[in-house]
Amino acid sequence: MTHEDMTKKLRRTDGCGDLRAGDIGRRVTLMGWAQTNRDHGGLIFIDLRDRSGIAQCVFNPEDAPDAHVEAQHIRSEFVLAVQGVVAPRPEGTVNAKLPTGEVEVHVERLQVLNTAKTPPFPINDENAPEVDENLRLRYRYLDLRNARMLRNLTLRHQVAHAAREYLDEQGFLEIETPLLIKSTPEGARDFLVPARLRSGEFYALPQSPQLLKQTLMVSGIERYYQLARCLRDEDLRGDRQFEHTQIDLEMSFVERDDVLKLVEGLIRRIMAVIGVEVPAPFPRMSYTEAMARFGSDKPDTRFGMELVDLSAVFANTEFKAFAGVLASGGQVKGLNVKGAASLSRRELDELTEFAKGFGAKGLAYFQVTADELKSPVTKFLSPEEIEAFKQAMGAEMNDLLLLVADVPSVVAQSLGRLRLHLADRLRLIPEGLWNYLWVVDFPMFEWNPDTDQIEPMHHPFTMPKAEDLALMDTDPLQVRGELYDLVLNGNELSSGSIRIHRRDIQERVLRTINMPLEQVRERFGFLVEAFEFGAPPHGGMGIGLDRLVMLMAGEKTIRDVIAFPKASSGADLMMDAPTAVDPIQLRDLGLALLKKPEAK
Ligand code: ASP
Repeated sequence: MTHEDMTKKLRRTDGCGDLRAGDIGRRVTLMGWAQTNRDHGGLIFIDLRDRSGIAQCVFNPEDAPDAHVEAQHIRSEFVLAVQGVVAPRPEGTVNAKLPTGEVEVHVERLQVLNTAKTPPFPINDENAPEVDENLRLRYRYLDLRNARMLRNLTLRHQVAHAAREYLDEQGFLEIETPLLIKSTPEGARDFLVPARLRSGEFYALPQSPQLLKQTLMVSGIERYYQLARCLRDEDLRGDRQFEHTQIDLEMSFVERDDVLKLVEGLIRRIMAVIGVEVPAPFPRMSYTEAMARFGSDKPDTRFGMELVDLSAVFANTEFKAFAGVLASGGQVKGLNVKGAASLSRRELDELTEFAKGFGAKGLAYFQVTADELKSPVTKFLSPEEIEAFKQAMGAEMNDLLLLVADVPSVVAQSLGRLRLHLADRLRLIPEGLWNYLWVVDFPMFEWNPDTDQIEPMHHPFTMPKAEDLALMDTDPLQVRGELYDLVLNGNELSSGSIRIHRRDIQERVLRTINMPLEQVRERFGFLVEAFEFGAPPHGGMGIGLDRLVMLMAGEKTIRDVIAFPKASSGADLMMDAPTAVDPIQLRDLGLALLKKPEAK
C-alpha cells in the first residue's frame, strides 16, 4: 500500500456479513461496531458488526504495527472503519456457525469513527444472562443492535413489503387516513387530543380507520388498504400495546367469500417470506361449532382434546350437582386428558383452582384405572351411566377425565382454558404447524351484563346474515352477522365483516342496540350521510400485523417485533413518556388539571 493509500479517507466497500471465500485476496473496507476484542498473545481479534453481519478482523503487530497499537484501545461498541485483505482462516479455526466463518480480514488500517460508553448490557452475547426487559426498553437503541431484534425488524419489513406487493397486484390503492379524527366504533377507550383552536373540544385518535375506509368505498375507491396504526387506550397485556398496526383493507361489490379468498392469498404470500406454504382455502368453522368443540372462538386446532357434551349421558342422573345444572338449562361437558390419570392430588387441586378462575364452581375428575373410574363422584353414578360416560369420552386406561357442569359460557371458558393449559403443560402441541382457520357466523349482538344492554359484537355497521333478519325484532341474540375472524394456532389474527350499506337494515340494527338516531348522527353522522349518496355493498378486514409477525418470528410478545414499544406499564422508557407538560401549554389548550401530577 502506498503512502497516499494510507492517508486517504476510508470508504466502505463491503458489508461485514457479506464476505465469503470468494472474496479471498480482495482489499476491503468495512465499517461497523466492535463487538468483541480478544488479545491472543500478539494477535488482536476484533469482531466487527454491521447490519449485514459479523467479520473477524485480525491485527498483526508485524504486518500493521500502527493499526495493532490502536486496536489495543478498542472497546465494545466503538465505531470503526477497517481496511485490509480478506484471507482464509487458518485450518481448524473455521466457524461453521457464521456465514463469514471461513474468512477473516487482515487489517492494514484502522480508523476510530467514534468511541462508545460501556453498554449497560452486552450485545449478541449468547452466554450473557437474560437482560431485564425494562432495561432493554430503556436502551432500546442498543437492544435493537442484537441480531434477534434486527432479524425481527427485518421480518416485519419483509411481511409489510409482501403485503403491499400482493395488494398492489390485486388492484388495491394504499390510502392514508388522518390520525386526528372523531371517535371510532371499535368499542375501546379513545385517546383524546385537545384542539387548541377550538378550546374545550377534542380529536380522538383512530381505534381503526373503520369509518374512513367505509367512506372511501362510498367514494368509489373499490379497493383500499393501509398499514394503519390503531390506537386504543386499553389496559396492556402480554400481547397488547396502545398502538398496534393493522393491514387494513376494504373492498366494494364483494361478498364474504371474496374477502376470505383475497385474505387467504395475502396470507399465503406473507408466509412465503419464511418459506412456509399454507394450503388454501383455509378450513372454516362456525362460531357455534368452535365454542362447542373447543370452548373458544379462536380454537387452537393443532391438537385434539376436544370438549365432549355429556348432557345427554347425565340427563336422568341422580347426582345432584349435574342434575341441578341440567335442569336449569346448563351443560355438563368434559375433556379427556389422555394418559394423565397419574396426576397427583395436588395437581388435580391446582387444575380445579384453575377452572374456578374462569367461573366454574368445581371440577369433577375421574382417573381411569384397570378396573374402576377413580373419583369422589363415582359413587353417585349408576353403572349404566358410568358405562355411557366412558363410551362418550372414549375413555381408556390411564386417561384423566375432567368435567364441568355450569351455564354454557362458564363451561366453555373453563374447559376451553383448561384445554390450552393442559396442552401447554403436557407438551401436546406439535411444533412447526401453521393452522390457519376462519371462524365465521359470529352472533351479531351480545349481552353486556355490566350495562344491561345488547351490544354489537363487532361494530354497528356489520351486516346481519340475510337468513337471520327475521329474528332481529324477536330474538336478536340469535341473529348471526356476516362476521369472520382469522385465527392462527389459537391466536385471533384479524377480524372483519361485510358491512351494512342499506339504510333500512342499518336503522333496524341501531334500533336493536338501542342507539337513538341522534346519537348515531352525532358519532357517525358523516358516514350515515355519505351512505345516502349511493353506498356500494362492501366489506373488509383488519389483520393484526404485530401479532402475525410475532408468531412468524417465534416470539412471545409483540413488543419484540415493534421497534419502540411501550413497557407493560404503558410508559415509553426510552423517551420517558408520558410526561407532565408546561403550564403554558395547558393554558394554550384551555385545560386545567384537577390534580397536580405526582412526581415520578
Ligand atoms: N376495523 C376492524 C377492527 O379493527 C376491522 C374490520 O372490520 O375491518 O377490528
